[in-house]
Amino acid sequence: MIPYGKQDISQADIEAVLEVLQSDFLTQGPKVPEFEAKVASHVGAKHALAVNSATSALHIACLALGLGEGDWLWTTPITFVASANCGLYCGAKVDFVDIDPQTYNLCPKKLAEKLEEAKQKDRLPKVLVAVHLCGQPCDMEAIRKLSQQYSFSIIEDASHAIGGKYQGEFIGSSRYSDITVFSFHPVKIVTTAEGGMALTNSDELASRMNLLRSHGVTREQNLMTHEPDGPWYYQQVDLGFNYRMTELQAALGVSQMNRLDVFVERRHELAKRYDQLLKDMPVTKPWQHSDSYSGLHLYVIRLQLEKINKSHRQVFELLREQGIGVNLHYIPVHTQPYYQAMGFSAEDFPEAMAYYREAISLPMFQGMTSDQQDEVVKALELALA
Ligand SMILES: *Cc1c(COP(=O)(O)O)cnc(C)c1O
Repeated sequence: MIPYGKQDISQADIEAVLEVLQSDFLTQGPKVPEFEAKVASHVGAKHALAVNSATSALHIACLALGLGEGDWLWTTPITFVASANCGLYCGAKVDFVDIDPQTYNLCPKKLAEKLEEAKQKDRLPKVLVAVHLCGQPCDMEAIRKLSQQYSFSIIEDASHAIGGKYQGEFIGSSRYSDITVFSFHPVKIVTTAEGGMALTNSDELASRMNLLRSHGVTREQNLMTHEPDGPWYYQQVDLGFNYRMTELQAALGVSQMNRLDVFVERRHELAKRYDQLLKDMPVTKPWQHSDSYSGLHLYVIRLQLEKINKSHRQVFELLREQGIGVNLHYIPVHTQPYYQAMGFSAEDFPEAMAYYREAISLPMFQGMTSDQQDEVVKALELALA
C-alpha cells in the first residue's frame, strides 16, 4: 500500500535520538530548548513552546487566551476534530464558519457575515482557530482585520503548514495571530513521533503556556506569591497539565528541522508533477494562492462527479483496492455524533458538505518516488474510467 503520508527518517535522525538515550536527560534537558530555539528562529517568532502534541498546544493556547465557560470558539468544519475540541476542553462552546470553495479554508466573507450576526445576538467568539488546510495559509490579513473590529483572538492551526510561507514570511511568525500551532505527528511534514509546538510573540502568552504545559508549577521567583522557602522550593500558581515533550522527541525534531526546506521543496515537485499528470482528468486540482507558498502536507483533489460514471465512494474504494492509501481530509467536524448532539445539522455548512462529497487526498510525502506517483496516477485513471 502506498500511504497518503509517511515520515522520512535519516541515519542522522536515528543517531540524534540514540545520543540522547545515552545522555543524562531523557526529559527536561537541553534538547527541548534547542528545538524550540531552532523552530522559533526558522519561522521568525519570539517564543516557541514544545509540547507532546498539537492537540495539547491548542489546549494551552486557548487557556492562555482566557477561553472559558460561556465563551465561543469558532473554527472551520473542514479540519481534524482537535481544532474544535480544544474549545470544549476549556468549557467554551464551539461554532463553525463555512469554507471558501476555492481554497477550502475558512471563508473570510462568511466570517464577516457571521460576526455581524453574532454581534446582534451578543455571542461573538473569543477565539478563532484558523486552520491552514493542506498547508495553504488562510487569508490572515482579512482575518486579522476582523479580529480587530470584533475583538477576538486568533490561533493559527498550522499543523499542515510548517515550512510554508504567507506573503513572503514563514508560517509560524504569528504576524497576524496571537499563537501558531504546529503538529509533529509522523504523517505531518516534520515529525517527533508525537509532538507539537505553540509559537507566539507575546511574552505574557508564552509565560502562561509555559506554566500550563507543566502542572502550573514554577521555580521562577517573579511568578511566585512570596519569597521561596528555600532552594527546594517551587509553587503551583495555575492548574496545568503534563504536556511536556521528551528529549528524544526534541532531538528528532532538531535533526528533522535540518531538512525542512528540502522536505517542502520535494512536496512542491510532487505537487507540480501531479498537476501535470492529472491535467486531462475529471478532477479539480488544488488551487494555490499566489501570495503564499504552501507547506503541502496534503494534495487534495475533488472529483468532477458530473463527468464520472462512478460515485465518490466507488472511486475511493477502487483506489484502495489497487493499493493506493488514499484518505479523506476531513469528515466535516459538525457532522460527528459528538457535535451533532450539540444541535448542528449537516447542511448548516453547505460548502463543507459539497467538499466532503468530492474530496480525496492522494499520497503525498517527501520520500515518495516518481514511480510510486505514476502508480497512483495510473490507479486513479482506472478508477475514473
Ligand atoms: C494533526 C492535526 C492536529 C492534531 O495534531 P496532534 O499532534 O496529532 O495532536 C490538529 N489539527 C490539525 C489540522 C491536524 O492536521
